[in-house]
Amino acid sequence: MTFDQLHLIKPILDALHTEGYTTPTPIQQQAIPVLLDGKDLLGCAQTGTGKTAAFAIPILQLMHKNRLEGKEQNKRYIRALVLTPTRELAIQIEESFSAYGRHCGFRHLTVFGGVSQKPQTDALQRGIDILVATPGRLLDLMDQGYINLKHIEFFVLDEADRMLDMGFVHDVKKIIAKLPQHRQSLFFSATMPKEIVSLSNSILKNPVKVEVTPPSSTVDKIDQFLYFVGRKDKRLLLADILQDKNIKTALVFTRTKHGADKVTYDLHKKGIKSAAIHGNKSQNARQNALSQFKEGKIRVLVATDIAARGIDVDNLGHVFNFDLPNIAETYVHRIGRTARAGASGTAISFCDEEEKEYLYDIQKLIGKKIDIVEEHNYPLSKYVETSPPSGDKQQQRQRKSNGQSRGGHGQSRTSQAGIAGNRSGKKFFGKPKLGSK
Ligand code: AMP
Repeated sequence: MTFDQLHLIKPILDALHTEGYTTPTPIQQQAIPVLLDGKDLLGCAQTGTGKTAAFAIPILQLMHKNRLEGKEQNKRYIRALVLTPTRELAIQIEESFSAYGRHCGFRHLTVFGGVSQKPQTDALQRGIDILVATPGRLLDLMDQGYINLKHIEFFVLDEADRMLDMGFVHDVKKIIAKLPQHRQSLFFSATMPKEIVSLSNSILKNPVKVEVTPPSSTVDKIDQFLYFVGRKDKRLLLADILQDKNIKTALVFTRTKHGADKVTYDLHKKGIKSAAIHGNKSQNARQNALSQFKEGKIRVLVATDIAARGIDVDNLGHVFNFDLPNIAETYVHRIGRTARAGASGTAISFCDEEEKEYLYDIQKLIGKKIDIVEEHNYPLSKYVETSPPSGDKQQQRQRKSNGQSRGGHGQSRTSQAGIAGNRSGKKFFGKPKLGSK
């Protein structure tokens, strides 16, 4: 199937051509006709499936058509609202509207918290057609009278499950209460727990349900590896693996903000350019880090799940689960950042004793066992006592006295002191198989 067959208008087809898109993704094939037909949509899809274009393209086309027919030609109202949980995601969605709508002449704006509201309110006063917002700042601006939602024709609730996780549901409900009854609504969520289904029922009218490839098959094209490793050794192992220059870009997930900072600190000390993004960083710092990563100026981005949600980096080669997530679906979201649009990707996960049960859930969800890497070049068990960053000097001293050098990741060498070697007597569990990949 081609985009022409979806009956898209020329300005949009031209923009897609510029983007280099040739074939609509499955969610686009299913959602675009339904939306062009004016129906509500319940989309069960994760990031990486092309869902942003699946909603942005038909909204742009319908808005364009409407305008050409002369309605409200000279005045700008906010006609489309996309509500999304994170700032990064909001920026990316607006970029998509901007890319696909480059020949449509609409004005769009992103509003999110953590930055001055002045540029946002100035833009609102000049008039915009499409608004992409996170819930908190949107409510603030509505309360101050800068935003009125009564002209909304299209409403998109994106990443609904994440909204729930982040405690935004109350805000979302307040916003929905201000929307006009007559509108087209779109609801996207990667998972559909009970609360999400009931939230969707309160927003959608006779929706068409579109579900794209279940997570287990989506992740099939990603090479997945697992290291059993003690908690304190994870940072050493990560630095060791990252010595491999074939790893051009890596997104590293940690469970906590503090953990993200510690990992970045250690990588810096080992000469690996990295930056952390999480909720405690200013919006500017986060954007900066993300841009540098996208431009290839830093190789490693360390992020918490919430900060990383929606981050879209072309050709991201490696995803590391420094900590295994306690929700199996999160694993799928994380590793789905790589292997986008047909590219290949590698996901490397570290699992310590306490994360064993998470691993069980993950493997159940993806329907297979992750390959275990047993041997690597770093004698981890020598260092179990150290606790970076404070113990970092001690490690260096120890390494020196052991006369160790670094090598590439994944090569089977004679070092028997790998994770499974466990000479220190530290408890490792499981029986790793020899030499995965
Ligand atoms: P999303 O799931 O919306 O986050 O999109 C994931 C990535 O796929 C983004 O980088 C899009 O630019 C890209 N993408 C979306 N649709 C297509 C398409 N039809 N062909 C190629 N790339 C696409």
